Amino acid sequence: MATLGVIGGGQLGRMLASDAQANGHRVIVRTDEAPGGPAAQVAAGEVSAPFDDITANRLFADQCDAITAEFENLPASLLEQFALAVAVRPGASALHICQHRRREKEFLRANQIPHAPFAIACDVEELNAAIEAFDRNVMVKTAAFGYDGKGQIRIKPVAHHDVEAHWRLLNTDEAVVESFVAFDREISVVGARSDTGEWVPFAPGENVHVNGVLDHTITPARVSEATARAAQRIAGELAVALNYVGVLGVEFFVLADGSLLVNEMAPRPHNSGHHTIDACVTSQFGQQWRASLGLPLGDPTRHSPAVMCNLMGDLWANGEPQWDALMHDPRIRLHLYGKVDPRPGRKMGHLTVLTDDVSEALALRARCTA
Ligand code: AMP
Repeated sequence: MATLGVIGGGQLGRMLASDAQANGHRVIVRTDEAPGGPAAQVAAGEVSAPFDDITANRLFADQCDAITAEFENLPASLLEQFALAVAVRPGASALHICQHRRREKEFLRANQIPHAPFAIACDVEELNAAIEAFDRNVMVKTAAFGYDGKGQIRIKPVAHHDVEAHWRLLNTDEAVVESFVAFDREISVVGARSDTGEWVPFAPGENVHVNGVLDHTITPARVSEATARAAQRIAGELAVALNYVGVLGVEFFVLADGSLLVNEMAPRPHNSGHHTIDACVTSQFGQQWRASLGLPLGDPTRHSPAVMCNLMGDLWANGEPQWDALMHDPRIRLHLYGKVDPRPGRKMGHLTVLTDDVSEALALRARCTA
């Protein structure tokens, strides 16, 4: 039995802690938020204090055999500090790249991994130049602290845009300006790499976004076998290039001819991998504690098709949804994250439906609020 330290206290940490502890390990969470959040509710312990609190960091690290993070927007220096005392997987350098869109895109370019053409803009003039260079059809994304469609603006070719107003809205001094990709669909590969270099990917999931946020994931993704294999291979190449140990999520755009562009990487389990809890022999969280603790990886085989539907706070508009309506259906697995404040746009939980019928799965989610 080992003790795994998890930096961050959200739903990813909660699902990791549940699986690790069901397998006999202990999980201690390190948060800089109010104690008792989603992960801490199920973990063996929590150290809650600002991330620059050296005494709290020592108290946390002293209890851990290995440390991992469940979110990427934390100082890479914190991981470097922990790495002096204990194994940190994935390491600070992978986090440093994945947490920042400019570094991420430049990493893709340097490693010849296919991605959408992009330019960097540090002021309105550079933004205007980049917009023109990409035929006035771009996504502008803040370089730092962007996820789930946050910190990004679409500029469409036909519309008039007040670029200066957009720049002010982004409230940044550095943006990635990306050519808009007319993709056929979006997929992602979640995979695990062990400390011995073994790469074990899950089959790709197909992601449908609403307002830039993942709404549901369909597995298996409706792409050719060749595209699915290429996505797994590219994700594995990224893991090697990052010298990565842990679970990595890689998002792709699939073009009409089946070719792939990497959109972004997540140095942790990914929302599109949640179906693995119910549909695979080993889940992405099972792989995360294995990789983080330096253990052999598990079997990623999927035993059922699945549609994973996110449950956003919007569904709580008229009170708690009627979960009872779903409880008798053996294909349905409900996961709620223990969040008490169901704000619109906030991920409150997810529903995995073990089916290949996408519209039925979406109708089942809708039924809870009907
Ligand atoms: P991101 O925060 O970069 O993951 O973007 C969120 C979503 O916005 C993606 O999943 C896409 O649906 C869309 N998106 C981002 N970048 C582009 C792009 N260059 N072209 C078209 N759609 C994009």
